[in-house]
Amino acid sequence: MILEKITVGSYMSNCYIVGCEETKEAAVIDPGADFKKIYETIEELNVKIKFVILTHAHGDHIGALNEVIKKYNVPVYVHEDEVDMLQDANKNLSRMMFRKEIKVEPQKLLKDGEIIELGNLEMEIIHTPGHTKGSISIKVENIILTGDTLFNGSIGRTDFLGGSFEDIISSIKTKIFKYDDEVIVYPGHNSPTTIGNERKTNPFVI
Ligand SMILES: [Zn+2]
Ligand SMILES: [Zn+2]
Repeated sequence: MILEKITVGSYMSNCYIVGCEETKEAAVIDPGADFKKIYETIEELNVKIKFVILTHAHGDHIGALNEVIKKYNVPVYVHEDEVDMLQDANKNLSRMMFRKEIKVEPQKLLKDGEIIELGNLEMEIIHTPGHTKGSISIKVENIILTGDTLFNGSIGRTDFLGGSFEDIISSIKTKIFKYDDEVIVYPGHNSPTTIGNERKTNPFVI
């Protein structure tokens, strides 16, 4: 599997390029800002971008979305409960964060348990509400991308629109912690961790 983490923008969001080694087909996860940095990484990897998946629609994860769509002419995938936010620059905080309106029409609405194929890879969509209503985590081989749901030593904020502390805790405990300790967690901000490490040390969920 190809996996590249690009930290972008003033909110230091992690954009990921995930791809299939054999077919060189790839997806952009959360193009949060700094299109140039994302573009250069894609060029360097020499992959063909097939689609964008958003772990959720907050401004710091969609800041370069329009540029990615324009450059690669690819569809946007987002959870069905997140569409509303993606289409509204106030709800997705882009107006507040960048004084710029970002509102995008998604092409595919994701559901819990759905499998998305990318070359020879299978990406499992896991609905993990709590940070926002339509937040998802994405499991591919031995890694899981957790967006702003689970961080290294922390969890996402639940005081924005659609947030719920009860839901985020339940999402982490029942839908993310069901995986083995060895699974590597790639979060929406900060450095990677493992399921085992979070299970043992994350103060919000131990
Ligand atoms: Zn967020
Ligand atoms: Zn974020």
